[in-house]
Amino acid sequence: MNFIGDYFALGLVIVLCVFFFDNKTGIRYMSASGKLFICCLFTTALTAVIDLMSGQLLDLQDVALWKHMLVNSLYFVVNIISTSTIALYLFTKILEHTYSRRCMRNACIGLAVLFVLYLAFVVMNLWTGWLFYFDEANNYCRGPLNGVGYLITLAQLGLVGICYLRNRQNASRPMRRALLQMFPIIPLCIIIQRTNPEIMLNGFIMALVDTVLFLSFQGQRQGVHTLTELNDRRRFFTEVDSRIAKKEPFQIFLINIKNFGSINQKHGHVFGDEYLYQFAFSLEKLLKGSLSFHMNGTVFAVIQRYTYQNDADRQSGELLEFLENGISCMDQHVDVDYVVVHYVADGLETTGAELYENMEYAGSKTHDRKQRYVRCTGEIREETGRHRYLRERIQTVDRQHGFEVWYQPIGCLSTGKFCSMEALIRLREPDGSLISPAEFIPLAEQTGHISPITWFVVEETCRLLKYSPNLDHVSVSINLPMDQLLEKGFVPRLVSTVKQAGIEPNRICLEFTERIMLDTFRQTLEVMQRLNQEGFRFYLDDFGTGYSTFNCLLQLPFRIIKLDTALVHSGRNGATDYRLVRTLTKLFHDMDLIVVAEGVETQEEVRLLQEQGVDRIQGYALARPMPVSDLLTFYQKNPVE
Ligand code: C2E
Ligand code: MG
Ligand code: MG
Repeated sequence: MNFIGDYFALGLVIVLCVFFFDNKTGIRYMSASGKLFICCLFTTALTAVIDLMSGQLLDLQDVALWKHMLVNSLYFVVNIISTSTIALYLFTKILEHTYSRRCMRNACIGLAVLFVLYLAFVVMNLWTGWLFYFDEANNYCRGPLNGVGYLITLAQLGLVGICYLRNRQNASRPMRRALLQMFPIIPLCIIIQRTNPEIMLNGFIMALVDTVLFLSFQGQRQGVHTLTELNDRRRFFTEVDSRIAKKEPFQIFLINIKNFGSINQKHGHVFGDEYLYQFAFSLEKLLKGSLSFHMNGTVFAVIQRYTYQNDADRQSGELLEFLENGISCMDQHVDVDYVVVHYVADGLETTGAELYENMEYAGSKTHDRKQRYVRCTGEIREETGRHRYLRERIQTVDRQHGFEVWYQPIGCLSTGKFCSMEALIRLREPDGSLISPAEFIPLAEQTGHISPITWFVVEETCRLLKYSPNLDHVSVSINLPMDQLLEKGFVPRLVSTVKQAGIEPNRICLEFTERIMLDTFRQTLEVMQRLNQEGFRFYLDDFGTGYSTFNCLLQLPFRIIKLDTALVHSGRNGATDYRLVRTLTKLFHDMDLIVVAEGVETQEEVRLLQEQGVDRIQGYALARPMPVSDLLTFYQKNPVE
């Protein structure tokens, strides 16, 4: 009965070990705190075992006195080693995110002093019997200072308390919780033991403390982000879904840290992790009464109860001010480049997943506008719905799913005939209306669905040219995103598709917008040269929208430059504004390039552009984009080169 505490302690330690080793790969790859935790378990078990051994010795006959003294002294020493190890573990956890090492040094010195003091007591006990002694009948007797060990434990606890109070601004949430649970347990057990000296509770106290520590730090904690210890993404959705179900008024802030990549690169990953931790920590402290979540990577979310508009404005003001001020991390001040999406629930939301999609969409819109704060309004929700619809529509690209290719003839000014045309995709709605490519092409590019669109256009165009003898002299330009040109297998597929249709490659032109990536320049050049050798020609589309550099233009094998509508329309106010068009046209002619003006809407513009030396015209002034049926009639009525 006396040793029930020890048996209990051993049982608890075994259970902890089973759980602890269950989700670890091995001691070798364990974190420093994991290893220290093993030491805590080991010394706790040792305390209990030695206590049991000393008890067994007492039951035996004729055991030499020195053996009793040795085992009992060992018990006192192991006891203090065990409490010191636990205290050390607590110090490392409290100071985990404190970068001054001074406090850790002081804590270690404090522990060492207490340890040496107690060790001296144990040694002196051999002569003085202050802690314990054996009487003539070889029975264990408590000395007058038997409880000094508890005083030392309380002193260690005091050190932990001071350390926590000094560094509480950096201590994590689990740390706070662990201390709150631990502080009442230890003194309570000590009091029980002092009032019932026959029950030995030392091992038991330590095993209880180990359990608290395990649950707080070492156990696999579900629903918590491992790096920042905030609630994770899964909990976010559970929380939002439950608030939607209960029709509670709430608001969400979604925060994305945009400069994290450069912070990581500049200061290293350890700093990066710490930065995220500090950010999470400060965020949690900032918005009282809210729930914070670490969604993934650099995205955080905060859910708050929504009360009044004024409160919501104040709260978003506080959040933005905090973000503007930046955060301190490892004694350095770091700016936060952020985007905040603010969502106020209005009772119309259906699921957390859909709500989150709306917020992400609102956030993505800030990229073009360089905004840092955006309110996710009903309008944005409608847009997201539209996005979702379009994303589904572009999953399958064929005629049955409403895709059509229209063509817009391009006129040649020198001959007055139609020499080429541009293939433009269209998407038909079930009600017969058309969705503009300007709406779904950027989406297809973003979501990686552009490739089937291009191949659909290429195949439709090849079919048209193959079966339309009256278009024999017309070439067709096809829009192609630069990324796709660099895709593996693009060149052979294009060559074989065109050749199989029996079409001369020089009747197919590829149009690129100006966004030629400089870092893929070499690759781009090689692929274009290969296609050029096969006979394909290239258009540079939308020239004048701001991305190209002349350096690129000079080196890439373009045949034709299309001046963007914006450039062409800059001349709308009078002939003098056409100077830029004239200068560019002359320059491109010197470079042996053909110049096409796009978006030409009036005959007056045609005349003015002709005066500037532009070679070809594409625009409503000559012809609108049209489906194949109209195109064939168009070419019957209009001269082909
Ligand atoms: P883009 O390649 O610059 O095509 C020219 C756009 O200008 C076409 O719009 C055309 O209808 C329009 N346009 C032609 N003449 C005039 C005019 O006189 N006035 C005005 N206001 N507009 C004129 P569309 O067909 O809506 O296409 C928009 C953009 O979508 C295209 O710009 C192109 O970037 C993209 N796109 C269209 N079809 C495809 C395709 O098959 N593949 C890819 N990757 N992109 C495509
Ligand atoms: Mg184009
Ligand atoms: Mg264009």
